[in-house]
Amino acid sequence: GTAGVASGAYEVMDAFNEVFKSKNVPAIVKERECKVKQTGCRGLCERDVLVDIYLPGEEAATYEHVTPDMVQTIVDEHIGEGEPVKKWAAKKSYYDFYRLQKRYVLKDCGVVDPEDIDDYIQLGGYEAIKKVVNEMSPEDVIEEVKKANLRGRGGGGFPSGLKWTFCRKSPGDHKYLVCNADEGDPGAFMDRSIIEGNPHDVIEGMLIAAYAIGCNEGYIYCRAEYPLAIARVKKALRVAEERGYLGDNILGTNFSFKLHLKEGAGAFVCGEETALLASIEGERGMPRPRPPFPAVKGLWQKPTNVNNVETFANLPMIILNGADWYTTIGTEKSKGTKIFALSGKVKSTGLVEVPMGITVKELIYDVGGGIPKKRKFKAVQMGGPSGGCLPEDLLDTPIDYDSLTAAGAMMGSGGVVVMDETNCMVNIAKFFLTFTQRESCGKCIPCRVGTKTMLDILERISDGKGREGDIELLESLAEDIKVSSLCGLGQTAPNPVLTTIRYFRDEYEAHIYDQK
Ligand code: SF4
Repeated sequence: GTAGVASGAYEVMDAFNEVFKSKNVPAIVKERECKVKQTGCRGLCERDVLVDIYLPGEEAATYEHVTPDMVQTIVDEHIGEGEPVKKWAAKKSYYDFYRLQKRYVLKDCGVVDPEDIDDYIQLGGYEAIKKVVNEMSPEDVIEEVKKANLRGRGGGGFPSGLKWTFCRKSPGDHKYLVCNADEGDPGAFMDRSIIEGNPHDVIEGMLIAAYAIGCNEGYIYCRAEYPLAIARVKKALRVAEERGYLGDNILGTNFSFKLHLKEGAGAFVCGEETALLASIEGERGMPRPRPPFPAVKGLWQKPTNVNNVETFANLPMIILNGADWYTTIGTEKSKGTKIFALSGKVKSTGLVEVPMGITVKELIYDVGGGIPKKRKFKAVQMGGPSGGCLPEDLLDTPIDYDSLTAAGAMMGSGGVVVMDETNCMVNIAKFFLTFTQRESCGKCIPCRVGTKTMLDILERISDGKGREGDIELLESLAEDIKVSSLCGLGQTAPNPVLTTIRYFRDEYEAHIYDQK
C-alpha cells in the first residue's frame, strides 16, 4: 500500500529478490526457490515495511520496520537456519492490534497480490458473482442484501438494499452504477487501502450490485491523488475484462456490465453524490438540488445508484456466506463490521476493521494501544470534518450509526483522529472548519458565507481576541447553516464546532475571558 511504498517496500522487495538470486545464500534457500509476493496494506501502517516469512508447514512469522540492510540476515538466519531473528520480529503490540478486530472485508488485504487476478480467484474471488448470475434472480440478491441489513458505509448509513430498489424500479433501459472512491476527509484512508489491497473485491461487489439493480454501465470515481489505487484499478479492470468478468455476456450469461475509471481532481465536495455525478459528466463538481434523486435522474439524466467502496466490498461475502451469517455480526440496527482509519495521538495507527457495537474506548485502547508518551486522552474526532469530537466520558459509546449520532458525532466514512491533553479544542474545531470552508463549492450562501463567518469568529477566539457572545453566535450560526445548506458538506460542516462547544465550552471561555 501507499504507506508501505513510502516506507521503502519496493526497496525491501528488490533486496529480497537480489538476495534470492545471489550465490551468497544458504543451500536451502536455493532448494526452496524462495519467492517474494507483494500485497496491499496489512493495516498497521506505522510498522511498515512489514514482511511475513512463510516456511513450509509453519505459520507465517512477521517482521516490522524492515529495511533493505536487514534482508540478508533474515534470509540467512530465518530461512537458512530456521531461526527467526527475534530482535526484529513483530512485537506483542502488533498482535494486540489485530486481536479485537474482525477482518472480514479486509480479510485478503495484506494477503492477496492486488495485481494478480489468479491470486484473488484462488482465495475464492469471483465465486460470489458466479453464484449470483447462475443461481439468483436480481430480486433474490436485493432481498438478501436487505435481510443482511447492509447500511451504506460512506457516511449516511442508508440501507443499501432499499436504495437499490429505488433505482431498480426507476423506468429506463440504461442505468448507471457508481462507486464513490473520492475519499477526501483529513485522516481517512479506508477506501484507498481497500482498493490498493484488493481491487477485484470492489469490482466483484459492483458486479453484484449492477446485476441486482439492472445497471449495464458503471464508473469508479477515484481521486487522482491516489496514484497507486488508480494504477491497480486500471490493471484490475483490464484483466477482469480479459477474463470475462466485465463486458458483454459475463460468465456466458445475458448480463453485461461495462466499468470505467474516472479520476477526480480532489475536491472534497465531489464525495457528495450529485457533485460526483456532475464531475463525471465533465461539469464543475457542484451538488444539485434533490429531488430528483439520482435513482430517478442521475448520470446523464439516467437512473443511477451510488455506493461507497466499503459498501461494495461487503457484498461478495454477504452473497457467499448469506445474510443469516452476516447478521450475527454487529448490533441490532448496525450489522457487520466497519473499517476505521485510526490516527492522531494513539500508539498503533492504521487501518482497523471492528464489529459494529465495539466501544470507542476499546477501539482506542485495546486496538490502538492507548495514548503515547503517558499523556491523558482528551477527545476523539469521529467521522472526519463532518463528524464530531467526543470527550472522555463518552468513551463507552458503542460504535454504531445511531449511538454515534446521538452523541453528536457520526460514523462518517470512518476517519478517527485521537487527541491528547496537549491539543487545544478550539484549534481542533478551527482546523476542521478551515478545511470544510475551503472545500465549500460556494453554490449556496449559508455554507459559503456562513462557514467563513464562523471561521472568522473562531480565528479571533483562538487569537485571544474573542468577544462576549461569540460562543452563542457560533451556536446560532451553526444551527442556521445546518438547516439551510444545500448539501451534506454545509449541513455537517458546523458539527466539529458544535461538539467542541458542547463538550469543551470551558476551553472556548478560557480563550475569550482568561486572556482579557
Ligand atoms: Fe456547495 Fe456548501 Fe452549498 Fe454544498 S452546502 S452546495 S458545498 S456551498
